[in-house]
Amino acid sequence: MATTAPAPVRHRPTITRTAGQVSTIYRFVCLCGATGEEQAARRMALMDLNQHVLSLPRVPADQQCRTPRTHGRSPWEPCGLCADQTSLFDLEVS
Ligand SMILES: [Zn+2]
Ligand SMILES: [Zn+2]
Repeated sequence: MATTAPAPVRHRPTITRTAGQVSTIYRFVCLCGATGEEQAARRMALMDLNQHVLSLPRVPADQQCRTPRTHGRSPWEPCGLCADQTSLFDLEVS
């Protein structure tokens, strides 16, 4: 029996916009399945989004991405590329 590690949950929080009867409806959705309430303002949906991001477990310091833009990582995602790099160099811990 092969031992397969469970795939890490990916988070891609976004705000969806739907044209409602009266006004636009904003809603926070995440790739992990989390969704927010239907909100009348984008600001409210953004609060749901931030709350979700804050509820995510912190990535250990040695797995945090140091160049998120280059590696396409989000703050809540561990970066394998950077983790490999840090094992090659003796990094100063600040
Ligand atoms: Zn999520
Ligand atoms: Zn990285």
